[in-house]
Amino acid sequence: MAASEATVIDGKGVAAGVRERVAGEVAELVAEHGVKPGLATVLVGDDPASAIYVRRKREACGEAGIESFHHEPPADVSEDELGALLTRLNTDEAVHGILLQLPVPRHIDADAMTLTIDPDKDVDGLHPVNAGRLMQGRDGMVPCTPAGVIELLDASDTELAGAHAVVIGRSNLVGKPLVQLLLARNATVTTCHSRTRDLAAVCRQADVLVAAVGTPGLVGADMVREGATVIDVGTNRTDAGLVGDVDFEAVRQRARAVTPVPGGVGPMTIAMLLANTVEAARRQLKRQ
Ligand code: NAP
Repeated sequence: MAASEATVIDGKGVAAGVRERVAGEVAELVAEHGVKPGLATVLVGDDPASAIYVRRKREACGEAGIESFHHEPPADVSEDELGALLTRLNTDEAVHGILLQLPVPRHIDADAMTLTIDPDKDVDGLHPVNAGRLMQGRDGMVPCTPAGVIELLDASDTELAGAHAVVIGRSNLVGKPLVQLLLARNATVTTCHSRTRDLAAVCRQADVLVAAVGTPGLVGADMVREGATVIDVGTNRTDAGLVGDVDFEAVRQRARAVTPVPGGVGPMTIAMLLANTVEAARRQLKRQ
């Protein structure tokens, strides 16, 4: 058992710091270049959860001084029509970032739509060009949630160079880009997934353990090395409310630092979206 309880990493506080930094950068872009960063949000259909996420993103833009342009095509919009909207946004100079809220209705191929977005406006970092840039250590748009995880690790003074980082989950949205970001910071990285043998034994080797699975309570204290830093990306809606993938109360007795759910990774995702929009505006200034 650890000598004392883990530090709880305050995602809300770290996110507020990022948002303040972004607001400063927005003001600088306006003052020095006359450019106000703009984010276009595209919400297809009437999924209530997606509508809430998009509303929060737009409010956050407003607070940081980012212009937001909202488009709400009907649920039965054709792929051609949606593609044409994205193509128009690609050429709109007031729009620096484009966010297509996922999931989209089944008749639309989300991958094909992502491919339509200009990689330099791809603030979700999901375009294969950006995945390739990340893999090769080149500058590009980095997916928001994994970028937020790195901010939390830095804010909690977690040593990454030479550390063994174990990432549970290998999605294109979270696990895979996070592995690349950790490698870029010189961690030794192990990726786990649903076919990993003896997950607990692998996780116990981690100095830094990140769970991005979607299974409540998957990571118990028996999977955590004493003194490890544990980041919980999981977002699971249960009868008991919103919970992560980590058994927080048990793990905090062993870890050095741990993120709560809610209030950990969640707030970072929107903050990093704002940061990506500013980055997108800078990239487009350079291209001019
Ligand atoms: P996903 O695409 O469903 O991927 C889940 C990953 O977990 C897969 O790689 C899967 O392995 C692995 N997995 C499933 N069961 C496992 C098990 N028993 N042991 C080990 N690995 C297992 O999910 P995602 O989009 O990456 O999201 C992961 C979680 O993060 C979800 O709860 C999601 O809601 C949450 N999330 C939160 C935020 C935020 O802002 N806080 C943002 C994005 C996602 P296979 O590849 O073998 O199937």
